[in-house]
Amino acid sequence: MNQSPPSLMSLEQALEQILNSIAPIEDVETLGIMDAFGRILAESIHSPLNVPPYQNSAMDGYAVRSADLPTSGETTLELIGTSWAGTPFAGEAGEKQCVRIMTGAKIPAGADTVIMQEDVQKNDQHITIGVGHKAGQHVRHIGEDIREGEEVLQPGKLLKAAELGLLASLGIAEVQVRRPLKAAFFSTGDELCAVGEPLEEGQIYDSNRYTIFGMLKGLGVEIHDLGVIRDQREDVEAAFTRAAELADIVFTSGGVSVGDADFVKQTLEKLGTVNLWKIAMKPGKPLAFGRIGKAYFFGLPGNPVSAMATFYQVALPALHKLMGQTAQTPLRLKLRCLDRLKKRPGRIDFQRGILDYEDGELVVRGVGAQGSHILSSMSRANCFIILPAEQGTVEAGSRVEVQPFSSLM
Ligand code: AMP
Ligand code: MG
Repeated sequence: MNQSPPSLMSLEQALEQILNSIAPIEDVETLGIMDAFGRILAESIHSPLNVPPYQNSAMDGYAVRSADLPTSGETTLELIGTSWAGTPFAGEAGEKQCVRIMTGAKIPAGADTVIMQEDVQKNDQHITIGVGHKAGQHVRHIGEDIREGEEVLQPGKLLKAAELGLLASLGIAEVQVRRPLKAAFFSTGDELCAVGEPLEEGQIYDSNRYTIFGMLKGLGVEIHDLGVIRDQREDVEAAFTRAAELADIVFTSGGVSVGDADFVKQTLEKLGTVNLWKIAMKPGKPLAFGRIGKAYFFGLPGNPVSAMATFYQVALPALHKLMGQTAQTPLRLKLRCLDRLKKRPGRIDFQRGILDYEDGELVVRGVGAQGSHILSSMSRANCFIILPAEQGTVEAGSRVEVQPFSSLM
């Protein structure tokens, strides 16, 4: 059992240590592509065919031979048939002949160019075309989108709508994906009252369990909610043991700040290994990370905003790695900040911000009170404003780095 004493650590260092110690889950299953929605691909997908599989028309019009295009004046071509999408023209376009063609229909043998229907004069079984057409125009080529044998998706890709469509377009009905990650969580603290129970003097409602639930749910994780656990050694120990049996990863919140740290540490050193860190980030300084049995463990800070910020900034990359997903780089934007943001140099700060438009320019404003207990600020906000460690107070009008919440998933 190794426990390091609480020490101040940069966010990068903490992330590096955590990611280095995580091995992705290995179990793979084969699913129909609709059932695979939201899962992580576990194989490399190579295209079994060319897309498009045959030369086809990008327009409704007439398929012609480029050799017949007039260089001056006009040319009249004989119309010998029609190529429909799904029912190609069986014959061949000979000299001075053309074929009526629909969008997506196969280019008939002999033809190599499409004239838009708006650009022809049609009379009976003939069309007349003028100058200004380019050889090969309005033709979609074989393999223009995807070449046969090309790698189209790599292992670690999250399968969303576009990926399902892409797989279907290649005729692929089933794929290998990782099994869903299993996460268990509970809250500890004698001041916590479970929702649905009357609030006693000196109590607050347990909210972290709900934010943790929501953040995990958004990732498609299988969830085991173990409720609120009293601050009793036996109860906490039993909860940890059960959580580690149920899940690949266990989340708790609270109980990791200085006053409580020994308690969590003592419980966990019996069951596994734990590191208690003070990360140089705000909000969310105290963090515990370790293992209980085979499960990984995150002890998030108790303050509701700290718990969320730590989840997004520290636990999310760890979850991605554990579920076998390629490392993500959440979107960051550099924008003008309309408000003055108070900050002391020393720790990286994840303030809550609101993206807005002003005179056609994307800008950001602060949410006002930035306390780590003010959960309503997370709900009002739609982005983190990331202020680097060495940064002091930001004056209104300065440019700041912003991370939209929508990119954190
Ligand atoms: P702790 O880290 O246990 O000292 O908690 C820090 C702060 O977070 C205290 O104000 C706690 O009341 C609060 N807190 C801890 N757990 C929760 C929770 N599950 N829901 C809401 N607030 C919490
Ligand atoms: Mg507590």
